[in-house]
Amino acid sequence: ANVADLVAANSRERPGATALVDTVAETTLTWAELDAAVDTQARRLLEAGLSPGDRVALRLPTSSEFAVSFFAVARAGGIAVPLSPQAPEGEWRPVLADSGTRLLVGAAPGEHADVRVLEPAIDPSAGEPVAPTRAGEDVAALFYTSGTTGPPRGVMLTHRALLANVAQLGRLQPPLADHGDRLFVAIPLHHIYGLGPGLLNAVAAGATTVLAQRFDAQKALAACAAHRVTVIVGVPAMYTELAALPADEVGESLSTVRLLVSGAAPLHPKVLAAIRGATGLAVFEGYGLTEAAPVVTSTLVTGYAKPGSVGRPLPGVELRLVDSDGTPGPVPLDPEDPADAFADDTGGTGLVAVRGRNLFSGYWPDGAHGPDDEGWFRTGDVGYIDVDGDLHLVDRANDLIIVNGFNVFPHEVEDVIGALPEVAEVAVVGVLDERSGEAVKAVVVPKPGAALSEQQVVDACTATLAAYKVPRTVEFAETLPHSSVGKLRRFRLRG
Ligand code: ATP
Repeated sequence: ANVADLVAANSRERPGATALVDTVAETTLTWAELDAAVDTQARRLLEAGLSPGDRVALRLPTSSEFAVSFFAVARAGGIAVPLSPQAPEGEWRPVLADSGTRLLVGAAPGEHADVRVLEPAIDPSAGEPVAPTRAGEDVAALFYTSGTTGPPRGVMLTHRALLANVAQLGRLQPPLADHGDRLFVAIPLHHIYGLGPGLLNAVAAGATTVLAQRFDAQKALAACAAHRVTVIVGVPAMYTELAALPADEVGESLSTVRLLVSGAAPLHPKVLAAIRGATGLAVFEGYGLTEAAPVVTSTLVTGYAKPGSVGRPLPGVELRLVDSDGTPGPVPLDPEDPADAFADDTGGTGLVAVRGRNLFSGYWPDGAHGPDDEGWFRTGDVGYIDVDGDLHLVDRANDLIIVNGFNVFPHEVEDVIGALPEVAEVAVVGVLDERSGEAVKAVVVPKPGAALSEQQVVDACTATLAAYKVPRTVEFAETLPHSSVGKLRRFRLRG
């Protein structure tokens, strides 16, 4: 199957029902209109010279145009390369070059002799339907990981992988989306989290997608109330903002909502509690990564939004912990190893490995570093499985700081500093150190007007942490670098 078949199926089953609501342009499209607009745009792409397997960059904000163009590229047999419209040219230029992209839909400032730029048009007047030529094991999209751990790499996602993940999500009970649902998606569609569990999941279920460009808590509440939203697909930063608003206002605006989900970055248990207080609803946390198209686990699997846990693998997804050589099983407990403080009595931490039809086919262009011969893919995430069988993420293996041979997980230090009332946000990274190999550095964003000294930060750490975990240096900053879905870009702080 081809991902654009999802649109065609809805157009047959519920042609007059609302497919998309664009809250910025204030437009709506029915399934029949969306399907026809996809055909029109697919034809334009073919007329512009698109051959099967050609890459087509989408440099568009989260909008109906994005959705139409994404499905049009799929139907026309191309490979979509979603780009962040906010990213500076220095970031997306190399992506065009690496992917060999010659067609771009959207705005591309500057001279681009080698790239043909097409306007994103929405023309729902029915014309000749375009029959998809590619499907299944053919690559549908090339997502460049946002590069929080290194230079961006193109993740090859096939039609099969994208469709498998929505089918796996579709097996959750209660479902993440049903055809009567209206899903609020304010996460960028150029990120797999907005595209997969947001748009594709809604389209697979025949639900309405309510799109917003940028998350603004007040506007989001107004949009959710106006469109009687039933499901919010969000990231922690959104729930943190909502939690800061008056609880009765939030509760009232979200009165039609039945389900809240969060993913992409850790959700603080305090935020979970605040949202529950305001709405009576739990926020179900999920864990995923681009390479898994993207969802791997969710607390929806058990139906219990356990604070601090990302839940269990989706139906159809297998997960196991492995050591750094790939040997299955958590690394056994070592009472001398402080990392095992996280693992309680559950057998230790390990690298999260994943297997399932949702996995990618390796990195562009040759499929390097894809799943191994048995179908397993080792993520860069370190976690442990608690006594109930629920996964907890500790940190990324790449973020681990090694001081004199001792492991320091950034989060344990961040939790201590973050608990200081003067602190708005904190990030802890390892910096090269002549004596200890690496040393701990903390970058602290104080709350507006708060007075906080380096010594106070160090004292707080000394009071609760082993000496080698106490930051050698403390820096103050006004903001921390975040990606488009609110993920901390730690590598930017290492220098
Ligand atoms: P790169 O892979 O280049 O570092 P990236 O981090 O933006 O870029 P993504 O695929 O978007 O790539 O992010 C996946 C990662 O996000 C996971 O490997 C994990 O570290 C983190 N993540 C996702 N969901 C959660 C969650 N619920 N809690 C904590 N971390 C999460």
